[in-house]
Amino acid sequence: MKNISVIGAGTMGNGIAHVFAMKGFNVSLVDISETALEKAMATIDKNLSRMVAKERISEKDKKATLGNIATFSDMKIGVKKADLVVEAATENVDLKLKIFKSLDELSPKKTILASNTSSISITKIAAATNRPDKVIGMHFMNPVPVMKLIEVINGYATSKSVTKKIMTLSKSLGKVPVEVNDYPGFVANRILMPMINEAIYTLYEGVAGVNEIDTVMKLGMAHPMGPLQLADFIGLDVCHSILNVLYDGFGNSKYAPCPLLVNMVTAGKLGRKSGEGFYSYGHGTKEWIVSKNFK
Ligand code: NAD
Repeated sequence: MKNISVIGAGTMGNGIAHVFAMKGFNVSLVDISETALEKAMATIDKNLSRMVAKERISEKDKKATLGNIATFSDMKIGVKKADLVVEAATENVDLKLKIFKSLDELSPKKTILASNTSSISITKIAAATNRPDKVIGMHFMNPVPVMKLIEVINGYATSKSVTKKIMTLSKSLGKVPVEVNDYPGFVANRILMPMINEAIYTLYEGVAGVNEIDTVMKLGMAHPMGPLQLADFIGLDVCHSILNVLYDGFGNSKYAPCPLLVNMVTAGKLGRKSGEGFYSYGHGTKEWIVSKNFK
């Protein structure tokens, strides 16, 4: 594989483009928004400069990496030569089904189509195409250039040879791929989201405050970040939608999003990206403090 198309140039898409380009792949980064493409290239440039400053790569490596990425707002041109497409567009079922239908029509017949979805069924996405055997999940973690794991998700129809190719390719990026099967939340979010939801219930029921809950999990369980802070970083809307995928997929009330989470999302308190969640952000420093709603 040499030509990689990345669909969606947001948080994950720019990171995915960055790691492929650093390993010498030709990357076509596609987004419907020109602004998103410009922002993504600026972010990649900034992240590469940080690596140069830390002497992890040279100025020449940085230049070569940037030279390996071309941007496109027209998917038709962006995927026409792709050996692999990694879709990292907004987490929305209808949107992903539409994108995969188009990818199936626009990319060569041999192209493998991967999705970076956090929770949407790979089997369902694959069913929107005429090549379900070539559709697979490639779930990178955020921030992509730093995090080692790729959760490789086999849809019901994914062929063994496609899985093998993606496992090998993931290793060639310096990542550690882990193969899992396609059930709601896969492995990462099936385990993580109930923990976050339980932390929110613990706050909701008044068992302890925000700082106390996060401190117990950081110092007691050696988690680098408490679950409430992590929820703010992931985005409370994202947590909410993944919990609903688990709830719908298993039909089990243990996955029902905590009413406090539902209220916060409805009120637009989405965590770091909106400036406030369990903590509040943007005080002119990189510091965060517990939101006044929970003092
Ligand atoms: P984001 O909102 O930062 O970026 C999404 C991008 O997709 C936007 O730039 C948007 O313009 C673009 N887009 C929307 N429709 C498009 C289309 N039809 N064609 C091309 N581009 C389109 O989202 P994100 O956080 O990068 O998430 C992307 C995917 O990665 C989601 O499926 C999400 O679940 C998954 N994911 C996110 C994280 C995370 O921590 N953010 C972690 C793992 C996986």
